[in-house]
Amino acid sequence: MGEKLAEPEKPLTMGIGRKVYSVHNHVGRLEPWAFYEARGPISPADPGPETAEELDLFMKCRGIEKTLIIPNYGIPIQEQPFGHNELVASLSQQGEGKVAGALWMSGLPRNRELTEGALRMLDRPNILAIKMSYLLGGTADPNQWDGQTLRQHETIFRAAIERDIPIHFHTSPGGGSDITGFFEIIKRWGKDLKIHLVHMGGGVSGHIRLLSQWRDLIEGGYNVYLDTSWAIGFAVRKLLQELDRTGIGVDRVMFGCDEPWSDFESEFWKIQGAKISDEIKERIFWGNAEAQYFSKLV
Ligand SMILES: [Zn+2]
Repeated sequence: MGEKLAEPEKPLTMGIGRKVYSVHNHVGRLEPWAFYEARGPISPADPGPETAEELDLFMKCRGIEKTLIIPNYGIPIQEQPFGHNELVASLSQQGEGKVAGALWMSGLPRNRELTEGALRMLDRPNILAIKMSYLLGGTADPNQWDGQTLRQHETIFRAAIERDIPIHFHTSPGGGSDITGFFEIIKRWGKDLKIHLVHMGGGVSGHIRLLSQWRDLIEGGYNVYLDTSWAIGFAVRKLLQELDRTGIGVDRVMFGCDEPWSDFESEFWKIQGAKISDEIKERIFWGNAEAQYFSKLV
């Protein structure tokens, strides 16, 4: 008996009953890697789309009308995500007004040349964000950066500010990606720089810290944006109810499904199932993303 192959995905025929834009999707393959205690190389997630056709099918199978794409990453090789920047730029250009791109950059001095190369691609059509993550090293806490690291971050931040595009920062609890480091970035640069905190602050502690600061961040004039991918139920409910009740930061929260690492369905229902007004859902599923990203597509 041969191994049963997975059914190929099929485009949705009746849609999902809502207009949905995702501001967080990864494209490109990732080589298998001997993660953690694995005895040999494994691929935990499916590969991201690699061609315009694959990306289009991916979107049609989920009912996503517009998407912001980001290099796939996750293995501990610094060059790897930079290697997908060209793919992001070409898919964004071919995206027929439905695809925006975020280019990978790094504040680590060892990645200076690669980051300079990425900076030179920033004015390609439909590149509307920068992606940074400390999962591959370094820390979000500027108090721990040396002079070179600070200068490299400032170069990236300046390029984003000049173009009025946000930086997507990965957040997860503890270590270099902890939200406490990002609060320091926000304090120093967040009035000029648009800061998109992926995963809503990262985990239980990140969510609680973020929720406790939300009003102060918004009313303090900081340019903080969020997507709800990987966020835990209580935090999304609480934030959405706050938005519904107070309107504070109502333009700052967006839907992202983070495939192929997360899954569209659970990310969708986290918002769709929330007991909030339909107006807030419409903003999160597409309205805020249209204002922030997709209205700028050419
Ligand atoms: Zn992601």
